[in-house]
Amino acid sequence: MESPKPLRVLIVEDVEADVLLLVRELRKNGFDPDYRRIETSQDMREALREPWDLILSDFTLPRFNGVEALKILKAHELDIPFIVVSGTIGENVAVSMMREGAHDYFLKGRLSRLAPAIERELREAKERHARREAEKQRDRLFNLALDMFCVAGFDGYFKQLNPAWEQALGWNIEELLSKPFIEWVHPEDVASTEHALQQLLEGQIVKNFRNRYRCKDDSYRWISWNSFPLMKERSVFAVARDVTEQKSLEDQLRQSQKMEAVGQLAGGVAHDFNNQLTVISGYTELLMHGLTDGDPTHSPLEAIRQACQRARSLTEQLLAFSRKQMLRPEVLNLNTVLTSMNDPLNRMVSERVDVAVITDGALRNVKVDRRQFEQAIFNMVINARDAMPAGGKVTLETANVRVENGDARLALDLTAGPYVIVIVRDTGEGMLPEVREQIFEPFFTTKEQGKGTGLGLSMVYGFIRQSGGAIRVESRPGRGTQFTLYFPATDEPAEIIGKPAAPPPHAGDETILVVEDDESVRQWIVRVLREAGYTVLETANAREAMPLGREYAGRIDLMIADVIMPGMTGPELAEHLLPIRNDMRVLFISGYTQVAALDGAMMPEDAAFLGKPFSHDELLQEIRILLDASVKTIEP
Ligand code: ADP
Ligand code: MG
Repeated sequence: MESPKPLRVLIVEDVEADVLLLVRELRKNGFDPDYRRIETSQDMREALREPWDLILSDFTLPRFNGVEALKILKAHELDIPFIVVSGTIGENVAVSMMREGAHDYFLKGRLSRLAPAIERELREAKERHARREAEKQRDRLFNLALDMFCVAGFDGYFKQLNPAWEQALGWNIEELLSKPFIEWVHPEDVASTEHALQQLLEGQIVKNFRNRYRCKDDSYRWISWNSFPLMKERSVFAVARDVTEQKSLEDQLRQSQKMEAVGQLAGGVAHDFNNQLTVISGYTELLMHGLTDGDPTHSPLEAIRQACQRARSLTEQLLAFSRKQMLRPEVLNLNTVLTSMNDPLNRMVSERVDVAVITDGALRNVKVDRRQFEQAIFNMVINARDAMPAGGKVTLETANVRVENGDARLALDLTAGPYVIVIVRDTGEGMLPEVREQIFEPFFTTKEQGKGTGLGLSMVYGFIRQSGGAIRVESRPGRGTQFTLYFPATDEPAEIIGKPAAPPPHAGDETILVVEDDESVRQWIVRVLREAGYTVLETANAREAMPLGREYAGRIDLMIADVIMPGMTGPELAEHLLPIRNDMRVLFISGYTQVAALDGAMMPEDAAFLGKPFSHDELLQEIRILLDASVKTIEP
């Protein structure tokens, strides 16, 4: 036999004998009642502070009655099965008590059905309780969820919204319920939203639909929706999520892919163009060298030379943008560099513009190309000046910062670590968002024809990216512009920047091996070298250069090699030849630094570079510096 079921029973009854009767009936039916008898409303209130499984109540007592007892129970908002057990109750009264909320009734003389009724009531009470708990959980989910839940009617109004809406948009729920929801949708998204609604009205589920909702502060948030219609209720149930952050990361990725593609194109064009420029400007200089003063061909040749120089600076900026320029990074303290630029910058801007440098005393060092850094700062200060026709202030400020992993707010695509930032801030006219999105693209300019090339910020962008950093811009029309440049910090000590030595004499009689695959560039170099007195060995590629380098009977003082050549790169060639000719110096020439190809490990430590195009003088000067440098040490 099963052990008796414990049952806490509150019995509203004045006659003790009737109570015992009830208790016996319960015991007989497998219950183990723990009971208390009460007979006043006062007793009832006190008793309800404790938990009860069941209330059995007489209908009339001297000082209390069943109806009162039921009222007190309701007032306590307790869901305890309430069964009337009376000797006198008539059908009418019983029915009206049931209506008041009693669960069942019995006459004292006929208790045979009491036990099954109690079983049933206990079970149902338990089910009600479970249901209420589940509802409570659902409400909690609804109220606490960060996602936005909504029920909207086919009439175009929201019916029910959870509090997440208030947090996301800033409106309170009543405001959102008061107008057709389409009124909050961004004008550009109304058509697509109406289309999505049409699908829902036709009974289709709509997944991952995105539109913009207007916030209380007039900004817009991107919302992504998963919605399904309930045709019978003429309603749409939806879960929505604020994806503004995610959207902006996606846009940024798309933008950087576009920049990548444009960069590849620009870099490729600039590379081939540079080779041609080397030839044009080289031969022009050569021709000019042989001229007497007052020769009529002098001025047209000078015009060609100058055009070449302008073309050269354009291609340099394009190469910088495509991150394929030759960088000569040195360890610098940007405070020193910026302070030394203060005067030239102030001279460059008009009298109405003031340039101020604010330096962080404990600034860490960075490893960047000084010349390119200065060029970048000049470009940005010129832009700031142009944005302040009526005058204003440009502030250059430095600071140490740490970029943390997942610094989504910055979305700069930087590895975590210490950085040095340079902030360039102006009080100029600022930019519209659609301008701001395009400023780093090559040839994007808002300046009139002849005033801007649209390459200034492209150069800045490429240079910073190639240096392992990033650039961020904040700007509002009429509110000025702020650029933040990030450079990776280094613990290496800064180099002391000395004045460049006086240019050495150009000529020489040493032996030089020239390895260059571009026919006309090679011919020009060979001719310049021979005219300057050098003995020149020439080859078109590394395959030819290898045996020549190995077997040439005399001494080879210098090898000039292109970096990127079919078959074998210049650095690879040097790696093969240097062990055999360890007193040979090497000069790499290239207009095209494929960073990957210039794997640092393969590059001879003291190799020198000359970026194409270079002038006659620059070539001869670089050669003399190399040949005259003190004895070179070779690592075993
Ligand atoms: P350019 O100066 O030749 O136009 P840039 O690449 O230097 O080319 O700049 C591109 C565009 O970015 C400018 O035409 C201008 O519209 C905008 N811009 C750049 N810097 C600023 C600034 N500080 N304030 C306002 N607009 C700027
Ligand atoms: Mg500019």
